[in-house]
Amino acid sequence: MRHVLSVASECAPLIKTGGLADVAGALPGAMAAHGWRLRTLLPGYPVVMDALKGAREIRAETELMGGPAQLLAGEIGELELLVLDAPHLYDRSGSIYLGPDGKDWPDNPERFAALSWMAAAIASDGAAGWQPEVLHLHDWQSALAPVYLREMGASDSVGTLLTIHNIAFHGTAPAAKLKGLHLPQQGFQPDGFEYYGNISALKAGLVFADKLSTVSPTYARELLRPEFGMGLDGVLRTRRADLVGILNGIDETAWDPKTDAAIRTYKSPRKKSANRKLLIEEFGLTDTGGPLAVVISRLTEQKGLDMLLEALPAFVARGGQVALLGSGETALEQAWQEAAEAIPQVSARIGYDEALSHRMMAGGDAVVVPSRFEPCGLTQLYGLRYGTIPVVAMTGGLADTVIRANDAALAADVATGFQFFPVTAD
Ligand code: ADP
Repeated sequence: MRHVLSVASECAPLIKTGGLADVAGALPGAMAAHGWRLRTLLPGYPVVMDALKGAREIRAETELMGGPAQLLAGEIGELELLVLDAPHLYDRSGSIYLGPDGKDWPDNPERFAALSWMAAAIASDGAAGWQPEVLHLHDWQSALAPVYLREMGASDSVGTLLTIHNIAFHGTAPAAKLKGLHLPQQGFQPDGFEYYGNISALKAGLVFADKLSTVSPTYARELLRPEFGMGLDGVLRTRRADLVGILNGIDETAWDPKTDAAIRTYKSPRKKSANRKLLIEEFGLTDTGGPLAVVISRLTEQKGLDMLLEALPAFVARGGQVALLGSGETALEQAWQEAAEAIPQVSARIGYDEALSHRMMAGGDAVVVPSRFEPCGLTQLYGLRYGTIPVVAMTGGLADTVIRANDAALAADVATGFQFFPVTAD
């Protein structure tokens, strides 16, 4: 058995805003089959604390980024969890990243520096006799851990891997927070975690982690280019020898059309037409007989759903219908609601609904993913498993996971979906 501490800001089925949670939740099971034992360190959000039964306290800090904190150990289902219970940082309602004003919580730097610090402390000191050989860090929220490890003098005793799930989020903080975040002054320079005068947590990880990975081979290559690197492509080019793209997988038990608890009646991809009928009813559409495209997505610039809005009139004119489930930027939420009111063949649910997302995979004819960039993307993979044809932008993981229906692929009978490039409404 090899031992890994996976450090994530979200983890399915407990707390999820996107694909990171699916992957963090599925990795322990997938890695166990290869002889690796993963424990997962999570912030003690209210839902996590509520779910954690019979947790044991294994460490206590009188002061961690502005208040007392405890490290708890417990299990939820198959997941072995270490939970950082720090009420001053995590005990609040609403989104885990955004305050009621829709902006980042002002203390996000402290909230996730604390998580990173605790990861390093566990690697350095052990946790109730258990010690990981590797820290597997996910995105900026845990990316300061290699810096703290160095400060603790423990960076030689544990390996660090940072996985980039999305390079768009840097976790920046003003330089004035250096002391409060317990970061060393000498690291605050262009070869360290300084980024145009601010602290960048993601850059800290990109510079100081032993190895870097991202979630698809194509995104690993794209990240080295200015168009996709979001200002960190230069750093990544210096680390290209340590960067690898490993395609995400899906949790095949959570997403299994034969056993899916969210699908009430027809549990088989062969029952597409029956599930489709139910879905059309659920979305209040009147079936045109044309293809029913589904979209399950965060509504942000990245996801390209403004382009899909533009394409709606042409799509609908050719018999298409669209069911969208999403939440995110207010302007996009409104625009989709307006489109749904104006166009009878379009229906939109604004919100987050895990069970509905499964029924949409079961009932849709196609799943559309028009992302401007997409590190991996998971909904197209769920589509493949549920017999829902992916129609995707040719970028990142979407390029790697769908075999485009061109003449050669069709002749060889290996095509699995459609890809478009350039990524425009046309
Ligand atoms: P990202 O991580 O960039 O949001 P991914 O495609 O990797 O994109 O993962 C998104 C995950 O979140 C998928 O499991 C998808 O089904 C889910 N998801 C996104 N939006 C919603 C929503 N509004 N309701 C339910 N599930 C959603």
